[in-house]
Amino acid sequence: MFLSSTHLFLNGLVFALVKDGVLRLTDYEGTVLSLDLEGRVLVYAKGNTTYRRTMQNHYLEIKYIDGRRKVRVLGSESGLKIGEGAFEFARTCINGIKDEQIGKVLERIARRGPGFLQEDADKFVKVYGGEVPIVPPDQYFPVYLQATVGCYWNRCTFCNLYRGKKYSVKDFDEFKEHLSQVKKFFGEGISARRGVFLGDANSIIINQDLLRKDLELVHDELRLPVYSFVDSITTQKVKTYEDLLEISRLGVRRIYLGLETGSVRVLELLDKPIDLDGTRDLIINAKKTGISVGIITLAGAGGKEYYKEHVEKTAEFISGLPLDRNDIIYISPLYIYQGLPYSGISQKVGMLTGAEQEQQYLQLKSLTNEKFRSLHGYALDAPVVIYDLIESIY
Ligand code: SF4
Repeated sequence: MFLSSTHLFLNGLVFALVKDGVLRLTDYEGTVLSLDLEGRVLVYAKGNTTYRRTMQNHYLEIKYIDGRRKVRVLGSESGLKIGEGAFEFARTCINGIKDEQIGKVLERIARRGPGFLQEDADKFVKVYGGEVPIVPPDQYFPVYLQATVGCYWNRCTFCNLYRGKKYSVKDFDEFKEHLSQVKKFFGEGISARRGVFLGDANSIIINQDLLRKDLELVHDELRLPVYSFVDSITTQKVKTYEDLLEISRLGVRRIYLGLETGSVRVLELLDKPIDLDGTRDLIINAKKTGISVGIITLAGAGGKEYYKEHVEKTAEFISGLPLDRNDIIYISPLYIYQGLPYSGISQKVGMLTGAEQEQQYLQLKSLTNEKFRSLHGYALDAPVVIYDLIESIY
């Protein structure tokens, strides 16, 4: 009952607020700690630094230095200290609060410590049969559900997200069991989750009958909006407008497409055989059904040789789409991994420096906005923002 209601306590100089399944503690110095109702640390902010815990118990440290956002993943020893600090702060804050409705939750949190967080991360890996790599940056706290595992295509020359994973589709019984395990894992903490992310890389392409059953189950069990990556290689070939309309009615709110670039020649370097016309149709159809889109592009793709072409063709493609304020355009700095085919390609086309990538991000952003305005006669409402893979770890 209390999970959806708001409780505010004043405990000395501390504010304790329970809202939408999150316990938020704030002291007079501005330290803020958010925990789910099982006691998982979500966000801990102290001074000018914010720490976000991933489900695998890593901490992202986010700071602003000279007005610039700096993000890094902390090592396990530093992470342990953050966990200790967070629980010490929690105990100080909640000590003395008596409340019939949330007393049990506070008692539970008072007993927690970094050991609990590590055990929780170990359980997480067991439930998912391995790590869950990423979700888009606006999806920090979803319930991650795997209708599929891995990536159907899994060949893009730059991508290492699912390399070691064999692609498979869960049948309905497997998915049902998986959902039940995930619910059990989250416990009361599930009330802090704002949506369902249907993983891994391209679940929407599965057989429509199976997808319908999966989504109906998700709706019955969780009643949360659904989000998913789709690959724009296959999806437009296997999903009709009617299919998209059906999944929109079943709760799919946004799909995220890895477009990477609007240049056919750069797509060839990436070994990503996207049909741009088909991708445009997919986006138009999705928008017509009420599904919004997240379009992911790469800053640095095509290196120095294709710098100009990549910026122009990408801005041209995106600006031609019927985007609105519900959509989002991500520009993700390209990470080049040794041992992947793109590493060799980048030697040939000339790798961009960090500063050049940043410059390309700014150019992509301004040219997309400029072209959109000149084509449509009004400003692009969809935000164009950075998507750093580091910040997207689930
Ligand atoms: S970029 Fe997307 S489609 Fe390509 S291999 Fe990675 S997950 Fe699969």
